[in-house]
Amino acid sequence: MANFSVHIGVAGALSLAAAGACIQQGLVDHGEATVLIALGTVAGVLPDVDSDHSISVRMVFGFLGFALAAAIVFLFLDQQPLGWLLGWAALAAVFMRHVVYPAFAHLTIHRGLFHSIPAALLAGLATAALTLGALHWPPMLSWLAAGFVSGGYLLHLVLDELYSVNLAGHRLKSSFGSAMTLFSLREWRGYLALYLALLLVWFWIPHPPIAFGLLASLG
Ligand SMILES: [Zn+2]
Repeated sequence: MANFSVHIGVAGALSLAAAGACIQQGLVDHGEATVLIALGTVAGVLPDVDSDHSISVRMVFGFLGFALAAAIVFLFLDQQPLGWLLGWAALAAVFMRHVVYPAFAHLTIHRGLFHSIPAALLAGLATAALTLGALHWPPMLSWLAAGFVSGGYLLHLVLDELYSVNLAGHRLKSSFGSAMTLFSLREWRGYLALYLALLLVWFWIPHPPIAFGLLASLG
């Protein structure tokens, strides 16, 4: 597999190039392009959350712990004394780090579900659903964001596969083929859940659907 710096470097460079092309086409302004670059770059390391001690998984759970703690403080600021809230926030962060993270690490297999094509699609669709439905971004920007996330994610899978090829000896390592899977009988329950989640997110995305949304924002 490719390491963290290769993933983040390649994803960052390609996101930069793609965002540049979007600016040239007049699809986004510079601020929006910066957001797209950030999304594409983060998506380029996202699949390795299934690797129990990777930088990706520590980054994600560090962020989730912080987000949860911040949400507790801001949501209940008017209702509870600040001292209490800070206590609860600290407790939530510890819970995330010492209960949720180990449970997640125990449940996920490296190069399992997260290293699959449906997971890449789900990451993009979830981005579209979130940015359209909750953040009310314009459809064009939302679908571009979804494209950058799915694209960065797929790029990670491609790089992992490329690194499985032993270029000097023209031999394939045993990990070849484990990063870009569509379905695996060994993990059929997980894949079933993944495809169901894809369907659910698809139907949850506010209309208009892709083609219509793109056309509407172009016209
Ligand atoms: Zn990987």
